[in-house]
Amino acid sequence: MAILHPHGYLIITEDGVTSAEHDTLLCPHCQGIIVIQPGSGKRRDYCLKCKAVTCGKKECRACLTFEQKQDRQRVAKMNHIHFLTESGLYVAS
Ligand SMILES: [Zn+2]
Ligand SMILES: [Zn+2]
Repeated sequence: MAILHPHGYLIITEDGVTSAEHDTLLCPHCQGIIVIQPGSGKRRDYCLKCKAVTCGKKECRACLTFEQKQDRQRVAKMNHIHFLTESGLYVAS
């Protein structure tokens, strides 16, 4: 079982015992969650415009335009509302 905090950290528990904790970051380009694993040797890119670490995916190497960012945020918001609606937690008024 893993508990993921998008802006904080990932806690992996086994049989109720915390077996690992990792810091996480949010990719500024795709809103993907980046798990920081010191010494993992994984390549991370740094966006100078966003002043943030990106997830390292090919499509995230180049910075997004303001419009693209707004677009992604809109999609992320819609997915979130969709998820809440599907699970019956949210009723559109
Ligand atoms: Zn990304
Ligand atoms: Zn950027």
